[in-house]
Amino acid sequence: MKESAKGLTKKEIVDLLEKNRDHDCDGIGRDKICVRIVAIADLPSKYGQFQAVAFFNNRDNKEHAALVHGNVIDQEEVIVRLHSECLTGDVFGSLRCDCHDQLVAALRTIGKMKMGVLIYLRQEGRGIGFSNKIKAYALQEEGLDTKEANIALGFRDDEREYSVAAHIVKSLKIRSVRLMTNNPRKITELEQYGIKVTERIPLIIPPNKYNRFYLETKEKKFGHLLEDVAERFNEQMDAPLFKRGKP
Ligand SMILES: [Zn+2]
Ligand SMILES: [Zn+2]
Repeated sequence: MKESAKGLTKKEIVDLLEKNRDHDCDGIGRDKICVRIVAIADLPSKYGQFQAVAFFNNRDNKEHAALVHGNVIDQEEVIVRLHSECLTGDVFGSLRCDCHDQLVAALRTIGKMKMGVLIYLRQEGRGIGFSNKIKAYALQEEGLDTKEANIALGFRDDEREYSVAAHIVKSLKIRSVRLMTNNPRKITELEQYGIKVTERIPLIIPPNKYNRFYLETKEKKFGHLLEDVAERFNEQMDAPLFKRGKP
């Protein structure tokens, strides 16, 4: 039997797409965002067997994504990770933030579980976009402290992404979630949008040669790759939690 048979079945996919075709609710949260599922396909990855679920957003045309592992429909206590898009970190492996490590740790963990979902929110730099994010990095180089640069990056404005995530959880017919986060505030906010959160699971990042530098910078001198990075940005709103040990 194909491993993908453990995911959403063909019939469930057809039903979901059918139900979503004309979906247009009042939306969730401050910006009244409504999303609907427009396509689902297998997405085997090096982190496990997933199905990619594509969402159309009727308010601002952002194409959000969910990577589903196992069958989550009508299930309780599904592990969910919310990840905000970070082109520089996710794709380029930037050391200015922990996004790449957090993304990989989440996918690896979910890929080993019976079921889980990574919700990938297409809101670079908290929705301010790539250009503004790079501008904020430049401001930091000009001497802005991390707090000022964080505000410039728009980190205060994270209301929208949780409402979109809440809608995505509902679209996937997930009954309750175990949220993978080191930030309890994310749970409070999801609950405000009507999502039942039964547990918080810490996201623990395994050590590698880069975050070892991050851990040890106070004790040792910076590695050459990090010498221009005064302080890393916490772009996922999740304080990094590292597993100690050898990289
Ligand atoms: Zn809706
Ligand atoms: Zn990042």
